[in-house]
Amino acid sequence: MPAGLLVCFFMDQRIFITGIWHETNTFAAPRTDLAAFEAYQYAEGEALFERFAGTNTEVGGALSVAADLDLRLLPGLFAGAVPSGLVTRAAYDALLWRSLGRLAEAGPVDGALVHLHGACVAEGHDQADADFLAAIRDGLPAGAPLVATFDLHANLSPELIAAADLLVGYDTYPHHDMGARGAEAAALLHRLLSEGRRPAKAFRKLPFAPSPQMQVTDDPPVVEIMARLRAMEARDDVWTASIAWGFPYADVGHLGVGVLVQADEQVEADGLADQLADEIWSRRAAFQAPLLPVGEAVRQAMAAPAGPVMLADVADNAGGGAPGDGTVILAELLAQSARDAVVVLWDPAAIAAAREAGLGGRFDAPVGGKADDLHGEAVDLAGEVVFLEDVSYRRGGNYMTGQRVDLGAVAVIAATGVTVMLTSEKALPFDVDHLRAAGIQPEGQRIIVVKSAIAWRAHFRPFAQDEIYVDTPGVCASNLGRFDYSRLAGPIYPLDPAAEYLKG
Ligand SMILES: [Zn+2]
Repeated sequence: MPAGLLVCFFMDQRIFITGIWHETNTFAAPRTDLAAFEAYQYAEGEALFERFAGTNTEVGGALSVAADLDLRLLPGLFAGAVPSGLVTRAAYDALLWRSLGRLAEAGPVDGALVHLHGACVAEGHDQADADFLAAIRDGLPAGAPLVATFDLHANLSPELIAAADLLVGYDTYPHHDMGARGAEAAALLHRLLSEGRRPAKAFRKLPFAPSPQMQVTDDPPVVEIMARLRAMEARDDVWTASIAWGFPYADVGHLGVGVLVQADEQVEADGLADQLADEIWSRRAAFQAPLLPVGEAVRQAMAAPAGPVMLADVADNAGGGAPGDGTVILAELLAQSARDAVVVLWDPAAIAAAREAGLGGRFDAPVGGKADDLHGEAVDLAGEVVFLEDVSYRRGGNYMTGQRVDLGAVAVIAATGVTVMLTSEKALPFDVDHLRAAGIQPEGQRIIVVKSAIAWRAHFRPFAQDEIYVDTPGVCASNLGRFDYSRLAGPIYPLDPAAEYLKG
């Protein structure tokens, strides 16, 4: 055997890799059970590597560099569910026990990588991520380093930070650096192992909950702040630094923006973290989301010289835990007799009514507003059934590309002036293909309603003539004043404009 291979063999470090990923909207009624994880993203044991190798995910990123770093990854699991309500106790316990079981099976390990969201709330565990991380840590040999990753929307806490030796957060929203952060986490774990020391951590928590609509990392005000973060990370003495902008739809004590700097010396880490925290705090007023009341939004869209004009129903963001059946904009479009407008609603019951009417038949039934009483009332809709098929397609474009999207049974109702597309599975409008797949040409519309905060932009902006964010009710409303928070640790901006940031 060549000497090099022999050295490699002995230098291999055994690294346990596992993770849970859920952005929990505590205002959303449906609970998130184990089936929700298994239906979206679930792989365990060797299947973990088969599923994520070559993907732009944390596990995929870690896998892509592991061999070069002489890290031998030992599979736990990865479980991710679409943002939704509280994770059930049974689901959380099962995921933790399965992970710990895999860790025990893995035999002796030298370290661990744990991929988290950071805004997971389970029944009985407000800080599910921190609890999960601490449990994995307890299962590791004393002194074995643990590196964790988290989403840009994490609600970081001192407990989460303390449970890992080092943490790496996404730097982009929309998120496209999961693979890069997974690779970075693996490289930093390798550095912890080879240098045998730990960086100093400086964590700052701001009493500030900006709406996700204003957290886009390529747009002001965040783009300038992320540039400062990158400049800090370029310093030799900084290991890594992150800003978690928070997920505001969680009524928990640790809600808010977190800043984390990890550097050689505590005094330097503290100074840099204070700089970032001070800058974010001083700019907090710039995070006010532009929102129009629904009547004004529809009037402006109808008066636009050219279409399509996008009406963003952020509050009913199907990708953030909302049902996607909100009717407030549809009702206003009908009331104002809008023309060439299209609305997509998740509504299995209305599809049954469309089936009864049949293709080409007369539809006359209530649509939307059925999942809960937070997203408007059901709207009586009359029109012709112009499309009635099961729809499944592969996502094009450059975001979540190639993902198979299953809309289930789809019915399209042509009402006077407004086309309503009904789906039996929720449509996450990250693309225009979901409209085309049901025979609707997006370019030909005057008004398109999207149930999304910002994910729609990559696909619709190339041809949309204008965009209006509508102040609608719902569990993802940008207007946080619509929510009754009861468990916050103290005053938080912008809910309380007089909230103060007390350093330290
Ligand atoms: Zn996120």
